[in-house]
Amino acid sequence: MITQINGLHHVTSIASGAQSNNDFFTKTLGLRRIKKTVNFDAPEVYHLYYGDEAGTPGTVMTYFPFPNARRGRPGTGEVGITGFAVPKGSLPYWQERLATFDVKNMQTETTFGENRLRFDGPDGDGFVLVETEDDARDPWTNNGVPADAAIRGFHSADMRLRDAAASAELLKYMGYEELDRQDNVTRFHVPGGNEANVIDITQVNAPGADQGAGSVHHIAFSVDNREKQLEVRKALMDTGYQVTPVIDRDYFYAIYFRTPGGVLFEVATNEPGFDRDEDTAHLGEALKLPTQHEHLRQVLEEKYLEPIVD
Ligand code: ZN
Repeated sequence: MITQINGLHHVTSIASGAQSNNDFFTKTLGLRRIKKTVNFDAPEVYHLYYGDEAGTPGTVMTYFPFPNARRGRPGTGEVGITGFAVPKGSLPYWQERLATFDVKNMQTETTFGENRLRFDGPDGDGFVLVETEDDARDPWTNNGVPADAAIRGFHSADMRLRDAAASAELLKYMGYEELDRQDNVTRFHVPGGNEANVIDITQVNAPGADQGAGSVHHIAFSVDNREKQLEVRKALMDTGYQVTPVIDRDYFYAIYFRTPGGVLFEVATNEPGFDRDEDTAHLGEALKLPTQHEHLRQVLEEKYLEPIVD
């Protein structure tokens, strides 16, 4: 069994516009933009990262904003809900705040004994704020959300699947334990993992998702370093998974594999981190390009990447 995984590292989704995406995460949700770079595999598209002050693994929500991307259709075979942890008692604040920003489809609910506020992102993305106790993570509080309400980082990701069994087996192999069940949702967590160590599987008999704006592209799991990543890669391949070679993403090293339920998983290293090419005090301010795309800077800025007004 794999014992190297800490919990979530980042979640990456698709958006239809860079500005609206930036505004939603920094102004509405109060996160910090920690990196402004491009999709390394398609550099005419931004890759925007939001998180806590340093971009600590387990807090990092990332987006590929494709201008005018058509909206995805929610369904099975994807992560349907991304959860953020907020302090106990803060949901009334968030309900009022999100209403002020005209956020759609807000709904309060209680799941696994936790008070939650469901809402949609700008492209219909499924989000939930979950009240948690004793989350030791320091929030970013420079964007207008007070410390007693600010997002601490991820709480969980919820995979919507037609058949939970094979993915449940995979999660257990990855070090997750089944924690609880409620209706058609099974909750897993990594004992001793980071604060973003919960995965839910919602089993529903519904058509497959059609990926587009508002869809989660993949979720990434955290490992401490490259050595542990290679151990995870070998263990997955020994079990029959087809895993990519290690890919350098500048701020972490990544491997990817497709899971039985159709969700794309990544395993990402906590090293070297987002301060690799800019000081923590200025994270996310300048357009950062990987070495292989630096020669494209002028054409990318002039023709492809819409300027983002902060
Ligand atoms: Zn990723």
